[in-house]
Amino acid sequence: MTKQDPLVVIVGGGFGGLAAARVLRRAPVRVLLIDRSNHHVFQPLLYQVATSVLAPGQIASPIRGLLASHENTSVMLGNVTGVDAALRQVIVDADDRVGIGIGYDYLILATGATHSYFGHDEFATFAPGLKSLADAESLRNHILSAFEKAEIESDDHRREALMTFVMVGAGPTGVELASAIAVMVRTTLRKNFRRIHPNSARVILIDMGHRPLGAFSEKLSEAARLRLIELGVDVRLGQAVQSIDAEGVVVGQERIPSKTVIWTAGVAPSPAGKWLGSAVDRAGRVRVQSDLTIPQHPEIFVIGDTASLDQGGRPLPGVAQVAMQQGVYAAKAIFRHVTKKPALPPFRYFDKGNLAVVGKNFAVLQAAGIGMSGFAAWLVWALIHIQFLAENSLRFSVFLQWVWTYLSGKRGDRLIIEHHRDA
Ligand SMILES: Cc1cc2nc3c(=O)[nH]c(=O)nc-3n(C[C@H](O)[C@H](O)[C@H](O)COP(=O)(O)OP(=O)(O)OC[C@H]3O[C@@H](n4cnc5c(N)ncnc54)[C@H](O)[C@@H]3O)c2cc1C
Repeated sequence: MTKQDPLVVIVGGGFGGLAAARVLRRAPVRVLLIDRSNHHVFQPLLYQVATSVLAPGQIASPIRGLLASHENTSVMLGNVTGVDAALRQVIVDADDRVGIGIGYDYLILATGATHSYFGHDEFATFAPGLKSLADAESLRNHILSAFEKAEIESDDHRREALMTFVMVGAGPTGVELASAIAVMVRTTLRKNFRRIHPNSARVILIDMGHRPLGAFSEKLSEAARLRLIELGVDVRLGQAVQSIDAEGVVVGQERIPSKTVIWTAGVAPSPAGKWLGSAVDRAGRVRVQSDLTIPQHPEIFVIGDTASLDQGGRPLPGVAQVAMQQGVYAAKAIFRHVTKKPALPPFRYFDKGNLAVVGKNFAVLQAAGIGMSGFAAWLVWALIHIQFLAENSLRFSVFLQWVWTYLSGKRGDRLIIEHHRDA
């Protein structure tokens, strides 16, 4: 690596950005990865942090540590606020320095997505979502605190509201979270309280659509729905949430008192489209060309949840596999360009299948036209999730924790961490 080597700036150390950085390790380029958080998070297991199975450090790794052996790569903790495509600069706020311009020869934007409240941003105060480690930890504190408050609550109605957990949105996150809470109250917490019975907690999953896990086949959706009911989850389909406030939710004509409402309904992309002034789809994702660059800028790649690309007439889904395959593609395209090799053929996503877990011992799997549900699918789910964690230490630690929780019903991290002020 020399100072004259082209500089590739990657914004985002999630699934897409990290996959790109790994390929560029051996390329004759310098790489700078900028992320506003110092860690890479394995988002598919966030729900297990929120429900106390795993500790935050078991599903996340410092990006600096993951890339320490890449001699051509530097990492910067900073929040990107814009791109000056004409000057080939990204604009970054880092520590107390605002608007630093960092030049690039190639840019990969992999800034992911955030929650979307579909125009009802006022819901955010009362119905947090689950996207980051901080969200998961705060949900864990909130759920565990609800039981503590219920234990000392003498008013029946207030106690019931404390022990009612509502998930809005029956996609994979809503289904996984609702089923995990249902399992937690009926196993781990069951004998821990003296005045309340955690297994009498209500877990409610609401969706406007007519089936949970809409991306799966109807048969698998139905299998998931039946399993949720078996776990004691109240599944309410075809119902739109009218309002959410500090006392609960209103669905149709009914008010459901609840002190824990969790938004699992929608995601919105990062503002990368605004930074680039480039065309976006209806959701706000940057429309990329078949080589993942934007028009007139063969040096700018946009990948993962923040990009929009159609394949077979349908937009690619916002899942980790798409982000990783696009990260590898963008990095290879740059590698070829700097080494003057012929360009890659257009990007094609290879769908390895879809998985969602529904409580203990049960998952649904859809791959290569085949659908499967039950224990075997759950084993596949567990193996794949272990395999895709970022480091061996995490794989080992999560595996041991899962075996322990499976056998004993006990969870890894049931701490309510709050910052008390000294009296
Ligand atoms: C709860 C949950 C469960 C999921 N479960 C699954 C699953 O089971 N299977 C599956 O395939 N997918 C799942 N997904 C989706 C999957 O996690 C995403 O599709 C994937 O993370 C997208 O990768 P990405 O690289 O585009 O973005 P991300 O992985 O989200 O990474 C974006 C990175 O960019 C950084 N960033 C964002 N904005 C800025 C900025 N302005 N400046 C600097 N850095 C910035 C962020 O800190 C982050 O590190 C799940 C998502 C969630 C939230």
